[in-house]
Amino acid sequence: MINLTAKQISAVVNGEFFASSSFQDFTVSEIITDSRTFFGGTNVAFFALSGPVFNGHNYIAQLRKKGVLLFIVSDKNFIDDKAGYILVKDTVFALQQLAAYNRSRFSQPVIGITGSNGKTIIKEWLYDLLAAELKIIRSPKSYNSQVGVPLSTLLIDEQYDLAILESGISEPGEMQKLAPIVRPDIGILTNIGDAHQENFHSLEEKLLEKLKLFAGAKKLVFQSDRFYSKNIAAFCSQNNIDPINWTLENNNAAIQFKSKIKSASTEVEAILKNDHYSFSIPFTDDSALENACHCFATLIALEKDPKDFLTQFSKLQPVAMRLEIKQGINNCLLINDYYNSDLNSLSIALSVLKQQAAKSHLFKHVILSDIQQTGIETTELYSKVNQLLQVWGINKLTGIGKDLYQHQHIFQLESEFYTGRSEFEKRFVRSNYSSSAILLKGARQFELEKISALLQQKAHQTVLEINLNALVHNLNTFRKLLRAETKIMVMVKAFSYGSGDVEIAQLLQHQNVDYLAVAVADEGVQLRNAGITIPIVVMNPEHDSFQNIIDFNLEPNIYSFQLLQEFVKALEEFGLSNFPIHIKIDTGMNRLGLKTEKEVEEVITFIKNNKHLKVSSVFSHLAGSDEPELDDFTQEQFKRFADLSALIENSFPYKIDKHILNSAGIERFPQHQMNMVRLGIGLYGISQTGLALQQISTLKTTVSQVKTVNTNETVGYNRNGKIKQQSRVAVVPMGYADGINRRLGNGLGSAFVNGQEARIIGNICMDMLMLDITNLEVNPGDKVEIFGPNISISKVAQLLETIPYEILTGISQRVKRVYLQE
Ligand SMILES: *Cc1c(COP(=O)(O)O)cnc(C)c1O
Repeated sequence: MINLTAKQISAVVNGEFFASSSFQDFTVSEIITDSRTFFGGTNVAFFALSGPVFNGHNYIAQLRKKGVLLFIVSDKNFIDDKAGYILVKDTVFALQQLAAYNRSRFSQPVIGITGSNGKTIIKEWLYDLLAAELKIIRSPKSYNSQVGVPLSTLLIDEQYDLAILESGISEPGEMQKLAPIVRPDIGILTNIGDAHQENFHSLEEKLLEKLKLFAGAKKLVFQSDRFYSKNIAAFCSQNNIDPINWTLENNNAAIQFKSKIKSASTEVEAILKNDHYSFSIPFTDDSALENACHCFATLIALEKDPKDFLTQFSKLQPVAMRLEIKQGINNCLLINDYYNSDLNSLSIALSVLKQQAAKSHLFKHVILSDIQQTGIETTELYSKVNQLLQVWGINKLTGIGKDLYQHQHIFQLESEFYTGRSEFEKRFVRSNYSSSAILLKGARQFELEKISALLQQKAHQTVLEINLNALVHNLNTFRKLLRAETKIMVMVKAFSYGSGDVEIAQLLQHQNVDYLAVAVADEGVQLRNAGITIPIVVMNPEHDSFQNIIDFNLEPNIYSFQLLQEFVKALEEFGLSNFPIHIKIDTGMNRLGLKTEKEVEEVITFIKNNKHLKVSSVFSHLAGSDEPELDDFTQEQFKRFADLSALIENSFPYKIDKHILNSAGIERFPQHQMNMVRLGIGLYGISQTGLALQQISTLKTTVSQVKTVNTNETVGYNRNGKIKQQSRVAVVPMGYADGINRRLGNGLGSAFVNGQEARIIGNICMDMLMLDITNLEVNPGDKVEIFGPNISISKVAQLLETIPYEILTGISQRVKRVYLQE
């Protein structure tokens, strides 16, 4: 906590302080930048950050109502006499200055971690290894950005023995800004890979940028086996840094590691000068080994005796960095967040719970473990938790752990308490849980995943996993191609291209998109029922759905004069005026829309004489925006649209939005963005021009059975699965009824199992398919990917001579959607 007065903060950030006497002198102990996860409080300062996507200044009034008294702003116009204000040029820079100041007051060691992979896991494992003997403050989740690093650093104060901060960069120049904030005493460089490479000329350039973090460090932990390791060594000697380097390949380094994989663990031997240490980790993959070696080397850098930690390495656990949303028993929804538990991350998780519960009016239930190592006295801590639960409108608390059990009198809501997880499991009654959104939140050692397993629906192991962070990444990638003021309509038709309706819409609303568009009114009604309040356009407004369109405040696409007349009749019956509509012009697709000047004029005259309607926007759709061979035609469409839309625009005194670009259009013709664009497939990770998008969905399942098939035998229906040699076959519980195209059978398609591709053998059945795993080590229960990180949707589409749209929207509704969010 920082504990500074408003005046002191103003001095640190070189700001201009505006405050009437009543706001002059109070102490700030908490800094926030995101109004959405803030739950109320007074000793708080809000930094109004603004970027291409949003303007933090717009949330000032709302935050004042929640009790915030001090605002750091860069826009004079928001200053009034209702609170204290500090005016600066750049609010992000001011936040960074304040963080650097807070760092300078801390005299205990700081570990700074950067690199392409493993930052968060190493940070968490170091915490697990050291928490018994040191009071540690660490970056929440993966707060490692230009804003995340200062926010993490502002949590530091003198009561801690050690701080562990991670830093990430995505473009040149960023580390220069983070280095003076973190100023690590001990650095860890995890590795340098391809992430964000598009913004750097070479790997060396990215390495040099990352190394800037460590310029003033005393020691640097790194691996000596990479081709760029000598550059790091040179950097160390130039800057007088003690290299704590290590090797798995007998290279010259301070620490030599040797490893041997056992069935479910890896035995590691560490050799330092003449000392030998042996330990084991409960993982068998290369990246876990690398992360563990980094942790061991960091213990050496901290001058700890490795002997005291050897057994603890065998207890390291996977770090669930993402929050996971799953279908539970009895119509429950499970939100699992085992990452860590502190007040900050609890507040974020509660905001997710509230959003998710709203969609089906579910009961809000929190299962929480003891919160450890917060530096706050327990009574005060649990009073704050109680306050948080009240603010987020939680209906019930289940407390797990001795501290919560002892402090149960503090909680003023329906609650029950258990001294530990096994106590809970003993008394668990399945039928007590129904129609609830349940947040499971707890520190890793409480193993809440075992409770989750009790509550989880296990009907079908096949899931389509949707990575919501990737979706946000894609949205922001498109935003960067657009002007700040251009509106975005996101197409969530067809179950959001197969990825889910309400979940995706909630997220998009949270990300401040301007419009959602659905195909039919029913989809819009469902979104409204789930608490979506932003405008929703219905592309296919059928006559029978007018009542719903009006009742649920949906906005129809008007594509013909006849439809317009019918819709107005409905509006008249309800006595409504100024109802927003969107007019569609057909510029060459020959699908829905007004095609001729005469048709457009007819509509204009009708609307002019009608008080019931207001034209919100005029739009058209491109037939071939992704095909360079059709560019001449696309240009004609632009021209035709300019002419016809001008007729409408010039006929009304108010402003009308215009839009024509879909995803490929935005990528290839951003100069035609006008006031708005309509984003579809790109959001879901498919680019036509090689834009750096992330695939958002993974279709996966597990192996049901493995068997051996002899040369005279065949596999599957019609004996189509012929084999040449004795083979091994894995049966997988996914078939054409799940949306796996049957044509992928008989060797055309494949799946990814245990690190390798396996061909589909024989005909695909309704609910099953078989894989040839002759040369692979595969067991029942092993994970199988149909598409995802290893097999792209575009590749599957290519095999089937179709487009990614069909693959995405074809996954059947019986495949459960599971959402991941960092
Ligand atoms: C589906 C649709 C879009 C989005 O197209 P993508 O190619 O997925 O970006 C845009 N406009 C209209 C009218 C659509 O129907």
